[in-house]
Amino acid sequence: TVQLDELQAEQLYELGNKHMWLPFTQMKDYEENPLIIASGEGVRVKDIHEKEYLDAYSSLWLNVHGHRKEEINEAIKNQLDSIAHSTLLGAMNIPSIKLAARLIEIAPKSLSRVFYSDSGATSVEIAIKMAYQYWQNEGNKKKTKFVALSNGYHGDTVGAMSVGAIDLYHRMYSKLMFASYTIPFPSAYHHPTGNGDIAKEESLQAVRELFEEKSDEIAGVFVESMVQGAGGMNLMPPGYLKGLEKLCREFDVFLIVDEVATGFGRTGKMFAVEHEGVQPDIMTIAKGITGGYLPIAATLTSERIYNAFYADYSEMKTFFHGHSYTGNQLGCAAALANLDIFERENLVDEASQKSSYISEKLEQIIALPHVGDVRQLGLICGIELVEEKATKKAFPAEKRVAYQATIRMREKGLLTRPLGDVIVFMPPLAASYSELDEMLSIIKDAIEEIS
Ligand code: PLP
Repeated sequence: TVQLDELQAEQLYELGNKHMWLPFTQMKDYEENPLIIASGEGVRVKDIHEKEYLDAYSSLWLNVHGHRKEEINEAIKNQLDSIAHSTLLGAMNIPSIKLAARLIEIAPKSLSRVFYSDSGATSVEIAIKMAYQYWQNEGNKKKTKFVALSNGYHGDTVGAMSVGAIDLYHRMYSKLMFASYTIPFPSAYHHPTGNGDIAKEESLQAVRELFEEKSDEIAGVFVESMVQGAGGMNLMPPGYLKGLEKLCREFDVFLIVDEVATGFGRTGKMFAVEHEGVQPDIMTIAKGITGGYLPIAATLTSERIYNAFYADYSEMKTFFHGHSYTGNQLGCAAALANLDIFERENLVDEASQKSSYISEKLEQIIALPHVGDVRQLGLICGIELVEEKATKKAFPAEKRVAYQATIRMREKGLLTRPLGDVIVFMPPLAASYSELDEMLSIIKDAIEEIS
């Protein structure tokens, strides 16, 4: 642990307030509720006053094995003894090759090539440019547009925003973004009928109608895998992703599946597409790939797409894209250690069992008067707060009820961040049953205090 005296702590607050600007944070809010993390161990982190918090959002949906997992720390240290980083532009390196092979082993069979990057958003930018250029390279110059789902989220860079559709985050930048077609996401709870099957059929019908008219100008469809994260932990009705896949095949449009948040066991399968046996043309992965330790991401694609770029240089089919830290060796070494632990500890099966345990426990939360809906897939849970349960009437936005509830959770020793009116519960896969109990009991207490 890191020990600081009060004077040192005070200095950090001062320096932070003077020089830092935090992502997705109104700094005025932060000043009212400052938090400086000093260390972590397992599913807990400590602030600079040594107050302990349960990491109930996996440090923003990425931590898998808990903090300071010996094996990952060791892998990073060992890699440091060889080299920390060398560029992938025109040169491979040992851990990135080994990792690519391991990723292809566990990925859906349609995928055979790995293009590295360093965040979820960049893996999505790559998917956009790759799909776009595929059709250009193949001489199909009209296929330049993409399809997004309402409330979809794929990251905050301009391209990733353009294939997402969360009004709160994207409206401000609309003039910067390219236009995508938007299809309604089939959320059972938010559909006027409350019926997931109806929502599914309507949404698939909208895709069919769009494809019938425009598929000759559509390069691909972007979709989060089985569950929409930042849009509020909205679950797809069973069969929806499979239905989308069928339509993409029928009309020769790429199915681009974003597994940034759902990959690496989070939903009780290694990748969430496995729930429906879906074979994407392109799949983006990040977050859990290194167990949540270092910024590595990847865009996986098929041989069909790769081959459209493989030619004499003079044909100008090269994929002109890359980042300074693409395929960083330390990150790849951490990712290899992460996959070893998955295998050794049988983590995906474990996560699936923990998922059933959580489902039972969530029954008590569903019963609370201000809980409208609880949505769960594996270790991804969203708890939607409402003012009136029967009518699904939302709290007035200015009350910021979910945000206030998470501040109370923090006081009680648990960290998470809300998404609008939705409380996120997304524990590390390694959380023990008693740690899951502790987390859920704090979440329940804080929600019960809502009036
Ligand atoms: N795609 C999905 C589905 C996500 O949930 C996120 C982040 O939450 C991203 C992409 C963006 O990832 P990053 O924050 O690493 O850029």
